[in-house]
Amino acid sequence: MSVIAYPAPSLFIAGIWRAASDGGMIPVVNPATGETIADLPVATRADLDEALAAADIGFKIWRAVSAYDRAKILRAAAQLVRERAPLIGAISTTEQGKPIAESTAEAFACADIFDWYAEEARRAYGRIVPSKHPGVRHLVTKEPIGPVAAFSPWNFPTTIPSRKLAAALAAGCSVIIKPAEETPGSALALARALDDAGLPKGVLNVVFGVPADISSYLIASPVIRKITFTGSTAVGKQLGVLAAQGMKPTTMELGGHAPVIVFADADIDRAAAMMAGGKYRNAGQICIAPTRFYLHDSIHDAFVEQFVKAAGRLKVGNGLDRETTMGPLANPRRVTAMGEFIADAQAHGARLAAGGASNGGPGNFWQPTVLADVPNDARIMNEEPFGPVAVTQRFESFDQVVAEANRLPYGLAAYAWTQSARTVADIGDAIEAGMVGINFLGLTGPETPFGGVKESGHGSEGGSEGLEAYLHHKYIAQG
Ligand code: NAD
Repeated sequence: MSVIAYPAPSLFIAGIWRAASDGGMIPVVNPATGETIADLPVATRADLDEALAAADIGFKIWRAVSAYDRAKILRAAAQLVRERAPLIGAISTTEQGKPIAESTAEAFACADIFDWYAEEARRAYGRIVPSKHPGVRHLVTKEPIGPVAAFSPWNFPTTIPSRKLAAALAAGCSVIIKPAEETPGSALALARALDDAGLPKGVLNVVFGVPADISSYLIASPVIRKITFTGSTAVGKQLGVLAAQGMKPTTMELGGHAPVIVFADADIDRAAAMMAGGKYRNAGQICIAPTRFYLHDSIHDAFVEQFVKAAGRLKVGNGLDRETTMGPLANPRRVTAMGEFIADAQAHGARLAAGGASNGGPGNFWQPTVLADVPNDARIMNEEPFGPVAVTQRFESFDQVVAEANRLPYGLAAYAWTQSARTVADIGDAIEAGMVGINFLGLTGPETPFGGVKESGHGSEGGSEGLEAYLHHKYIAQG
């Protein structure tokens, strides 16, 4: 196991790496050991005012830089992230827990995101609309929307900030980002790469603190013109209300409770292996994690058997150990939540087919868990577990399973397995979700839109849609 010297976190305001103005700090804890690994500065109101002033000036500077030159800086940052990926991966694992191979791959993915948006912003084309008036031109141009307040969570501590930063910066916006207090080092490593790549001072500012205090203060500021948040639906609704008071547009990437529909004709071995990989990756703390398994009655038991075997092959432990394939949960709150979900499901008649317990500590470990035949009145069939627990139900007909899959207010990701071309087409149309994986798991990439419908949020990150989120359209009539 290779342990690194975890870098001391700081605020990054107006291009300066510094402590809080009143010296306030909160601890950062390694979720695999429970040990405090650093003290994190907590921004005061005065620090936030400085960040807002810097973002205001930074926007004026950055929007005047051509997309061509912005791209050079973003590509240089991407290259630095690539070179530093092993270190960034180790920082992420130390503060977040996931296996080091996953953290390192995540850092490389960030570099790809920066490269992709650097180029995409060079194609932020407007259009010329034919006029009915002789000699008149109607121009539609795209302009950066303004300074952005971004809030990112702890589960993907580098890729989620990267999606927000790459698209906003490529579009010409300045940003104040508040990454999760649990995982400051990963986001600061990205900011360091951007700073080293020559991003003008004040264009990016990084702050930490009490999330509700920071978000309410930043969102209310007239400087901020756009809000982007990834986290729970409950918090997304609160931030949406605050944003509406200033009529500010939002991108909301919120919770999910992804259904997985396995039809009778599916390739069970491939489906079970791929879905178990998706379910337990990052200890299930993924908003698009496969969770509600609707299995055709004829294959239910065979699928569960395969899935339980795959769960049993996982090696749970400290993510810095190269043999570990599933790390701890992010914080003790998640461990308590898993225990409550499972006890409640069993009380409602669910059968525990695998796992079901913590390891008792130290660290926030939870066994890969499978609950079979879980009734709809169990909490876990209705609330996002955000942990390593899969639940199953049986179905008979297409219409019945579509109704079940669409039953919840969530609509982020959904998965389906079938070998019928007819069913592939029908299920893709019938599912209420922002993303549908059919005979496939991977739904994230710089090139494709990522986002939900219903209470899973609105707007997309990823793809050209992700760039549009930071642009507004201006119509200019030239007579
Ligand atoms: P939480 O709701 O307290 O926090 C989730 C994230 O939102 C954290 O990063 C937190 O810093 C941030 N946050 C909380 N209140 C905020 C506020 N008022 N303003 C700005 N940011 C705020 O929950 P938690 O216990 O840390 O995480 C568990 C829940 O969070 C899960 O059930 C899951 O639904 C959700 N979550 C979702 C994602 C995602 O990718 N969509 C990521 C992490 C957490």
